[in-house]
Amino acid sequence: MSSTPKRDGITRHIFVTGGVVSSLGKGIAAASLGRLLINMGYRVRIQKLDPYLNVDPGTMNPFQHGEVYVTDDGAETDLDLGHYERFLGVPCSKNSTVTSGKIYQSVIQKERAGKYNGGTVQVVPHVTDEIKATIRSLGGPEVDIVISEVGGTVGDIEGLPFMEAVRQMRHEVGRDNVVFIHLVYIPYIKAAGEIKTKPAQHSVQKLREIGIVPDFLMCRAEKTLSKSVKEKLALFCNVDQDKVIDLPDVPNTIYEVPQVLEKQSVHDLVCKRLGLPVRECDMKAWDLMVHHIRKPKDTVTIAMVGKYIDHQDAYKSVTESVDHAAYSHLLKANIVRIESESLEKDEHWQDKLKNVDGILVPGGFGKRGFEGKLRAIRYARETGLPYLGLCLGMQAACIEFARNVLNLPEANSTEMNEKTPDPLIVVMDSQKDIVAAGNLGGTMRLGNYPCTLPKKSSKTAKLYGGADVVQERHRHRYEFNNAYRAQFEAAGMLFTGLYIPDATKPEASLVEIVELKNHPFFLATQAHPEFKSSPVQPHPLFRGFLGAAYKHKTMAGDGDGDAATAAEG
Ligand code: GLN
Repeated sequence: MSSTPKRDGITRHIFVTGGVVSSLGKGIAAASLGRLLINMGYRVRIQKLDPYLNVDPGTMNPFQHGEVYVTDDGAETDLDLGHYERFLGVPCSKNSTVTSGKIYQSVIQKERAGKYNGGTVQVVPHVTDEIKATIRSLGGPEVDIVISEVGGTVGDIEGLPFMEAVRQMRHEVGRDNVVFIHLVYIPYIKAAGEIKTKPAQHSVQKLREIGIVPDFLMCRAEKTLSKSVKEKLALFCNVDQDKVIDLPDVPNTIYEVPQVLEKQSVHDLVCKRLGLPVRECDMKAWDLMVHHIRKPKDTVTIAMVGKYIDHQDAYKSVTESVDHAAYSHLLKANIVRIESESLEKDEHWQDKLKNVDGILVPGGFGKRGFEGKLRAIRYARETGLPYLGLCLGMQAACIEFARNVLNLPEANSTEMNEKTPDPLIVVMDSQKDIVAAGNLGGTMRLGNYPCTLPKKSSKTAKLYGGADVVQERHRHRYEFNNAYRAQFEAAGMLFTGLYIPDATKPEASLVEIVELKNHPFFLATQAHPEFKSSPVQPHPLFRGFLGAAYKHKTMAGDGDGDAATAAEG
């Protein structure tokens, strides 16, 4: 940006609500607008208001809720926060996620502590005040704009306290400092050959009943809308015509959505509405990234072997990170999802892995399908196929190595078999009391921890650019049992990343990254690097893995894990 914007110290608020149906991509729309405002030089924060009663999604099954995303400060959150970080490049925090459960927990704690002076505690004003305080906590002198996405659909009973709170915000922060954006679905009825605006009209009516008048209508539809449909929507939804925004399906990638909004000058209109100077929006880096996505030079096939494969969003950050790394090599990743249980049951299981260029085992919990993951890992180790293991994927890689290389056939994690004679993966000391007490919500080893990279010549250290220490996010209770370390190193499995809380007590360090000697690429980490990848800054471990996979495909190069030039040539 050429100059810094003049600031008046007021934090503006943008609220994004949804109507007609869920799963319209409200999070992506909110994050895309955030990206444009950042590209104009504004300081933006973003948060998700979720009306469900779980305090956080940490205890929810991925089939229910998709991936649990983890922030630097260790919050277990909705996967939309992943979109926010990937689009905005700004780290989210515990304050970026607000559920009804969290709000009620805090209100009830205050009530128990006698903080309401004997008053009757009610949804209005106590719950709504708590919601407003949490929204405001994201603002401050360092923040120009806070974007808050209200989860669910207008009309949902459980969403009402949130809607009332954001309605009140307009009065408290000032009409001109608040913008409401309502995202609706505009269906196309094939039999009639017509686009229908009535559901959107009803949705806006519902919003107005609550006292919220939207400033912008974002229209999710298969295609862009005709001028006459937009005129109709503007008239009946009481929105200015230039503020009826097209949000058609994008042909190649969700990262095209900021461009779609930019073409319609949504960022300019929002700034004008908020009394903020309209500034140049620098799209150079973003446009180049999208250009690379649209025009890959080749493809690379990655098998992702997991347990929640049927749920599109259960491994969202993992598949995103694979894609980001592929883009950076000018490749398109073809991700083949393999249900790990199927590798246990199908006698021709190897056929499923025959034509892939790399295998990835993501994080997970519990026994089901675990032996199938071990099979896939063994296949990668023995055939020289690149392997990347994440969290459980590292624990599994170590178990496979112990069983088939160290000849400890019953080696296991105590998570899978409490009575194993070779407890290779065990509950962390810090977790033992927590597990015994059954206190499972928000109590894993969560968030950022430093990882020391002791072996300078390892692939790990090289991929991290020679750094001595890196920060990665975590979400686990089990760890590698240090009693087995010497045997592993002697047999060629190297410990290339360690968490060393106290340098005088090496026995208390935790294994964070392992890497196999004499293999083109076999690397696994206890952390979740997938939470630190973005399309403009792919994660180095994923980049190395994709590079090695592409080399495997083309059989070119020297195995150092960088195929960008190979892909370009
Ligand atoms: N279940 C394993 C643990 O708790 C791995 C967790 C994960 O993959 N996120 O340690």
